Amino acid sequence: MTDSYRHLRERLEAERKRLAEELAKIQTTASTSDERREGSPFGKREEEATETMELEKRLALENRIRQEMSGVEKALEKFEKGTYGLCENCGQPIALERLEALPQATLCVKCKALAKDGRITTPPR
Ligand SMILES: [Zn+2]
Repeated sequence: MTDSYRHLRERLEAERKRLAEELAKIQTTASTSDERREGSPFGKREEEATETMELEKRLALENRIRQEMSGVEKALEKFEKGTYGLCENCGQPIALERLEALPQATLCVKCKALAKDGRITTPPR
């Protein structure tokens, strides 16, 4: 573990906090609209459709945030294990400039290209 990764860990921790806040915000919004729905059971069909769409959008956003969060958490775990910055496929160090761009990257540029082609099964990041 070198010092060059320290600021990346800080960025990941800040990112995790931001994602948690975003998730909490979405969930707060959701419970507010649920209450509103209970208050007016005779809503128009159009309104219901809009609400369904809003719900789907919210769930999609929530899933995306959860996914990002698990990527960030996985990266932070690697700091604990001392494997941060190593490619999960070939075990070679990931270029620092790539980590700067995407601190939760799990693959080096070479393996990411392979993953994109479907030649390895590790999900691309
Ligand atoms: Zn690799």
